[in-house]
Amino acid sequence: MRVEMVRAILTAGLCISAGSFLAAAVTADDILARAKKLHFSSLVVDTHDDTTQRFLNADFDIGVRNASGSVDLPRMQEGGLGAIFFSIWIPSKVTGPEAVTRAHVQIDAVREQVRKHPNDLVLATTAAEIREARKKGKIAALMGVEGGHMINSDLDVLRKFASLGVRYMTLTHSGNDEWADSSTDKAVHNGLTDFGKDVIREMNRLGVIVDISHVSDKTFYDALEVGKAPLIASHSSCRAICDAPRNMTDQMMKDLAAKGGVIQINYHVGFLSQEFRDAEKANPELNKTISAEVTKRCGDNEACQLIEGDRITREYVAQGKLPRVEWTKIIEHIDHAVKVVGADHVGLGSDFDGANMPYGMEDATKLPRITEALLQKGYSEGDIKKILGENTLRVMAEVERVSRELSSPTRK
Ligand SMILES: [Zn+2]
Repeated sequence: MRVEMVRAILTAGLCISAGSFLAAAVTADDILARAKKLHFSSLVVDTHDDTTQRFLNADFDIGVRNASGSVDLPRMQEGGLGAIFFSIWIPSKVTGPEAVTRAHVQIDAVREQVRKHPNDLVLATTAAEIREARKKGKIAALMGVEGGHMINSDLDVLRKFASLGVRYMTLTHSGNDEWADSSTDKAVHNGLTDFGKDVIREMNRLGVIVDISHVSDKTFYDALEVGKAPLIASHSSCRAICDAPRNMTDQMMKDLAAKGGVIQINYHVGFLSQEFRDAEKANPELNKTISAEVTKRCGDNEACQLIEGDRITREYVAQGKLPRVEWTKIIEHIDHAVKVVGADHVGLGSDFDGANMPYGMEDATKLPRITEALLQKGYSEGDIKKILGENTLRVMAEVERVSRELSSPTRK
């Protein structure tokens, strides 16, 4: 395409400017080719996807290209996604034994998808298994529990989740649970309770990564202090750019990084763009109208709610009622985080199928754009590989090592 444009200009006789234009075009083509090669030779890991909700609908097939949503096998393959953490999520208000039961249903739903697609998907629980999956040309499926309320204040439930393959747990969702404060609720525990600290210790022993997305700042610092292994923020962005309480401040990112952790940047427009957030705040009726429309279309089907919420938000953007946010905002957040903590502590946690995606990052097929944009910014290939997935793999391996150490019978 670009080469054709250059040819057309040359034919038109615009020889003087054509030289520099040609050079620019060649450079852009060169970056595109390099990006493609780099992206598809990297292990791209996405630490947060809500596609699990769709698994509960009998009519959803991950094996075919879907017209709605962001994730299925063909689109993951086209976007070069090598490993994906499917989120086990239920709303914070669902608690007690029902929360445990519903979490188990979702864990089984993820495992069932793997059973149904043995040629393309494989359940992975370690960094080595992710690399092994890649060697076999398969996508590694992993699980993270999004919200500590699902263990019903019972460490046995946590152990059961771990034995079924869960490899991270977000300490809270948008509401507090019985032992930790959320960033979007009124603090009642002053961070983690004593039991909450025991949960962190047990997670370390089991090799389940502590995920501090969604939690209050005080919960984050308590978890950081108690934790013996690096933490992740599986889907959080930078508060310096977008002042959402569940985004991380520069200082929090530095403290997370000092203990080897990684912040995986979330693509949700309300966490990326201050302008979008301000527009939502300025017109609270808009959110109510969107929620009412979502309920009308979906009832209490959560998968439908997540997908339709994104679709209706897009309709509002098209009508000029909400600002349009471009995918390049993701790059701004990655770049900011890298400037603050370095390329060793930043990763990707899309929130696909659970949030409002920016224009140009509608689904997993668009992921190679991130690689291209970072190359264009002058990032080294090594740093880009780290951001795409190697940092997350490093944290996993370290969490596994700490788990082995804590479980060792020779430990004093
Ligand atoms: Zn979330």
